[in-house]
Amino acid sequence: MSTEIPDLPTEITPQSQDFGRWYIDVVRRAELADYSPVKGCMVIRPYGYAIWELMQQGLDRRFKATGHVNAYFPLFIPESLLMREAEHVEGFAPQVAWVTQGGNEELEERLVIRPTSETIIGTMYAKWVQSWRDLPILINQWANVVRWEKVTRLFLRTTEFLWQEGHTAHETAEEAQEETLRMLGVYKDFAENDLAMPVMDGEKTESEKFAGAVKTYSIEALMRDGRALQAGTSHNLGQNFSKSYEIKFQARDKSVQYVHTTSWGVSTRMIGGVIMTHGDDGGLILPPKVAPYQVVMVPIPRGNWRETVLPKAQQLRDALVARGIRVHIDDRDSQTPGWKFNEWELRGVPLRLEIGPKDLEKSQVVLARRDTREKSFVPMEGLAGHVEQLLAAIQQSLFDRAAQFRQEHTSRTDSYDEFTQIMDGRPGFVISPWCGSAACEAAIKTETQATIRNIPFGSEPATGKACIRCGGAATVHAWFAKSY
Ligand SMILES: [Zn+2]
Repeated sequence: MSTEIPDLPTEITPQSQDFGRWYIDVVRRAELADYSPVKGCMVIRPYGYAIWELMQQGLDRRFKATGHVNAYFPLFIPESLLMREAEHVEGFAPQVAWVTQGGNEELEERLVIRPTSETIIGTMYAKWVQSWRDLPILINQWANVVRWEKVTRLFLRTTEFLWQEGHTAHETAEEAQEETLRMLGVYKDFAENDLAMPVMDGEKTESEKFAGAVKTYSIEALMRDGRALQAGTSHNLGQNFSKSYEIKFQARDKSVQYVHTTSWGVSTRMIGGVIMTHGDDGGLILPPKVAPYQVVMVPIPRGNWRETVLPKAQQLRDALVARGIRVHIDDRDSQTPGWKFNEWELRGVPLRLEIGPKDLEKSQVVLARRDTREKSFVPMEGLAGHVEQLLAAIQQSLFDRAAQFRQEHTSRTDSYDEFTQIMDGRPGFVISPWCGSAACEAAIKTETQATIRNIPFGSEPATGKACIRCGGAATVHAWFAKSY
């Protein structure tokens, strides 16, 4: 299966005209990712991959701080292993890719390319765990997975994608539940502090939970087109997998018990989330913490600038780099400063630093913010400290802006008529009472395309309220949205 790769767009479609088009234009023009000759598979280009590396670092640091270690398991899973957990198979079977031949020989047993790794990791845990002394196991894996997709959307939905999957095994149900919530908390902290992306954390409904899980929790973000994006999930798998994969141990009281397991993951989808949370018609806007270049320096080419301006720019760069700031000097002769300003704005660099002969005389530089487009003259003396403050201010202001957008695009209604009206446009989140029935949930999805994103923690009780769809007694307030 192969696919024709369209030419790179020359201009970016305005968000108001076609948000989907805007998104793809930004991803490709900013050189984050591109289509590939393999249908459904993307190429992550160096600039996009650099963002992923920064995300990995931010997450990995947090995983290790919470006691986890990294390991690596095989890409292939024997068919018989996948088949052991019934619900899991049912959930994933329509999406798996099969390997049936190795070299010239047909395989005796087909292999699946991992859609997720509970089965193979569980099989290994069964060998490694004998006693309560071997617990807990807290392992994370950075890997690629494959889920056959009919529709391709760069970063958001591709057949192969990169992610991390944590898999833990515990002595007790309480510990497993604690771990599940701890990792959801880690995801929320990462999304809000590093990606400046406010998220709602809560529990998924029965019909939206992971195949084989007892409980699934998610963080949900709101994109600028009013659609929600599930940005990460954490699952309490109870003893479902330990019973299917025989992960047993001798307990403190000498009885033989099954372990309690969890799994949790986030993927390159988060890059799509960052683009759609912060971007504007000028292109990408990157939060400083995950920007490959936090500052781009554009020397103004006048006179003998290579002998005067450039050495000063390099000296300033060195001072910034010494403070841990990621800097790039764009000293290409082939492009004008105006072209470079546009280009780096499109690629979302948080701060642009301009320096020319006149600035040299005054011992100052010009700093331009990508988020507000404000320009200021700043003395060279103490520049690094000033840049650090500005980067922190941009990080905060992006979060505040996104939080305000979410607030303005979150509504509440107890009436189904109003609910369907809201869902007709660019809705955002709608909070409504729901009875807990999967049938109502499915009907709402068919009628409005909206799904329950999650039931947020601390959601106000729905006592005395009627379900918006069936009018029966409501059990919770659910957060509905159209989603990616
Ligand atoms: Zn109902």
